Amino acid sequence: MKKIGLYIHIPYCKQKCIYCAFSSFCGKDGTIKKYFEKLKEEMLCHKTELDGKTIASIFIGGGTPSFVDAKHIEEVLLFVKNEFNVQKNAEISIECNPDSVSLKKAEIWKKCGINRVSVGLQSIQDETLKLLNRPHNFSDYKRAINVLKQAGFSNINTDILIGLPNQTEGDIKKTVKALSDEGLTHISAYGLMVEDGTPLKKMIDSGKIKTISEEKAVALYNLTYNELKKYGYNRYEISNFCKPGFECKHNLNYWNRGEFLGVGLSAYSFLNGTHFENTKVLTDYLNLPYKKLNEEKETIKTAKEEFIMLALRLEQGLDIEKFNKTFGENFLIKFEKQIKKLKESNLIRIEKNHIIINNFEVSNMIISEFF
Ligand code: SF4
Repeated sequence: MKKIGLYIHIPYCKQKCIYCAFSSFCGKDGTIKKYFEKLKEEMLCHKTELDGKTIASIFIGGGTPSFVDAKHIEEVLLFVKNEFNVQKNAEISIECNPDSVSLKKAEIWKKCGINRVSVGLQSIQDETLKLLNRPHNFSDYKRAINVLKQAGFSNINTDILIGLPNQTEGDIKKTVKALSDEGLTHISAYGLMVEDGTPLKKMIDSGKIKTISEEKAVALYNLTYNELKKYGYNRYEISNFCKPGFECKHNLNYWNRGEFLGVGLSAYSFLNGTHFENTKVLTDYLNLPYKKLNEEKETIKTAKEEFIMLALRLEQGLDIEKFNKTFGENFLIKFEKQIKKLKESNLIRIEKNHIIINNFEVSNMIISEFF
């Protein structure tokens, strides 16, 4: 049976972080019950597409899935297990924010098969968390980690942001040490993105917040990489680090161009060679019959581009043999000129039949050479 990933989007949050451009809402709690009904309705529409496929990983993301009553999470997982083939040892992750983790919720998550928790921390500095309008402080985070461990979770990720206003090298060192002290298995370190339409963008434009320079952000990323390595966290994707054997299977499936179904508001899918997405409008999701949007059949060209772009983000790099087999072409001959140029500039290397990026901070530029 073909393995696929299932993503379930929960778009509710306690409050909106100033940098957030995700499909998430606060103050719409009255729609939660209906939203979960619609999720089930949507999943039933995909039943024939999932025939002959096994769900090998489930990722409940958001939004803040820990914000909603755990009984909704329990019910939706039970529904998935009853209606579809779910692999026995499937990786099942849930995203949470520290302030909305309770022992009761964590015990329900554990009981319904969730075996990986991803905690959004972003910074250990309380002033920065306040500035970002995060709904928690650092002690809430420490309490949440304790609660999760008490409930029996041992595979725990934490998200942090790199390139925050006023972030220093000392902050990075303290952050990595503090997270390592918590005994986490996985750390995701994302660069802060300033998205149009966010309060952060407005605050930067009006001079209320000063961003750090591009060079400083690159230096902080490199420092994060070195510090994480020191504490035994190996990079396996540009922003993702883990203790040996704790790579996120769900995300690896995306990066390896595996199939996945995304359900819920704004969720994105790649199934049976077709990309499609859902509405981003909550009222439409709640009130209109389910409809796939922007359906696009994959072409050889888009498949190749995606293969290259995703594979080069991985620490192990692009598997030349896999590319050649998938597309019936010889990568080294097709991109001879580009490879020569990038190798001469020491930006890539070839190791064990893989193309590997040497400088992840210029990965976008390197990847663009192949298009
Ligand atoms: S918790 Fe996440 S989804 Fe919710 S507002 Fe903050 S960044 Fe956005």
